[in-house]
Amino acid sequence: MKKLIFSLAIIMAFPFANAQNTDRRARLEKHLYYLASDSLHGRMAGSEDGAKARAYILEQWNEIGMEPFYPEGFEMPFSRNGLDMANLVGVIPGNDPVLKAEYILLGAHFDHIGYKDGEICNGADDNASGSSALIEIARMLKENQSKLKRSVIIAAFDGEEQGLWGSEELARKMKDDDMISLVKCMMSIDMVGWYATNGKLELLGSGTFKDGKSILQENAGGLKLNIKKFETAALTATDTRSFAKKYQVPTLHVFTGLKSPYHKPADDAELIDYEGLDSITCFISRVAADMASDPDFGPSGEIAYIHSGRNKPFELAVSAGFTTTSISFPDAHLTTDGAFGLTAGLSAQYNSKSIWGYRVGAYYETSKSYFPEQTNLFSASRTYRQQAVEVPVTIIMQNSNPAIRIYWGMGGNARYTFDSSLGDLNYKTNELQWGIHFMFGMKFGHFFFEDYFMRQFNDLFDTGAGDPKARINLTTFKIGWVF
Ligand SMILES: [Zn+2]
Repeated sequence: MKKLIFSLAIIMAFPFANAQNTDRRARLEKHLYYLASDSLHGRMAGSEDGAKARAYILEQWNEIGMEPFYPEGFEMPFSRNGLDMANLVGVIPGNDPVLKAEYILLGAHFDHIGYKDGEICNGADDNASGSSALIEIARMLKENQSKLKRSVIIAAFDGEEQGLWGSEELARKMKDDDMISLVKCMMSIDMVGWYATNGKLELLGSGTFKDGKSILQENAGGLKLNIKKFETAALTATDTRSFAKKYQVPTLHVFTGLKSPYHKPADDAELIDYEGLDSITCFISRVAADMASDPDFGPSGEIAYIHSGRNKPFELAVSAGFTTTSISFPDAHLTTDGAFGLTAGLSAQYNSKSIWGYRVGAYYETSKSYFPEQTNLFSASRTYRQQAVEVPVTIIMQNSNPAIRIYWGMGGNARYTFDSSLGDLNYKTNELQWGIHFMFGMKFGHFFFEDYFMRQFNDLFDTGAGDPKARINLTTFKIGWVF
């Protein structure tokens, strides 16, 4: 309730929040068309064109009346791999005598990749869109500065496409100056120009700060949001990583999906959804104002596992797949032909901080095996069938990478067989079967697949005299989803 009353107060306090504004939209369009124009040749980091983009942003900041965050001025130069680059770092100081020493940090990278196959990649969505939004967000927050308690840092990052260099520089400098823990949330506005096509605004990281979901929902206006607690992308990264990975700063990646011609010459200004861009600009301003004004706002204590480089401690998964079953008769030196069956079930896994994981599962499983005609044990076309519930317990060895994980494991399993048949033969199947297994698998984000090999250790049939000794060999291929 307190939260609700507070939010209503915020909405009233920040009138800029509400509607489309034609002047602002025209300015967004102007910024974007300039930054994504052919004359900037794709804003390659360390190039003259990168410097031109930076000069344009700086000119806008000066017009808005931004103040530099560092006494040396807005430009924060750095060099890597022989390239001379610079971030721009400005601040809108807060008004609370205590809270103004804390920060909400909004960043967008302005560099892009230059040329590809001799053609200019203008990077309109990536990330002239975020850079343009950031200028107008700064303007709105500046106009409402008197209502901010915390200070808001506005950062235009260079060298993102090279490997998040600009954001790494700022994060490291803030760490060296003992300021990194004062950043209560860092947002990367990276690719926000394709709202209409994507149909929603993607927000990744709401779990890293307090009341994340409600802060975002309450400021949504008419925007459709897709809120995720943590970033999960395996192969892409944005400037949030520089702050989250080493320094555990709460982060939010704001974007409209990978709908634009990503890193292609066709990523042009004409394709941008300016109405959506304007709504997103409003939205982020409101969220930032809310974060900067609520004294209770702060980190949740949780960080995306993709950033921490650790596997999530507890995982629940569902999986399903195919089984093939063959039956060995050691005394007859015979193994029957395997046939397809099905499996589906659940598993729970604990992942230690090192390479070990421990898993227990429960699977429904059908097994089927054909008995060939030439055997001396059975006549033609008999099929062995059973239905069972299998409970495997597995010790797993794995790498610590929540994005791409490779693992193998071994353990023991017990199966309760509640139904079995073997044509006209009257062997009684052992209801309780047990064995050992090993497995290997790969996991990409939430998705995984794995192979599982089981060898039964006790006897399949259990009627005493006359029954052949028999053991099941089961191979399973599963695909699954980890929640
Ligand atoms: Zn980008």
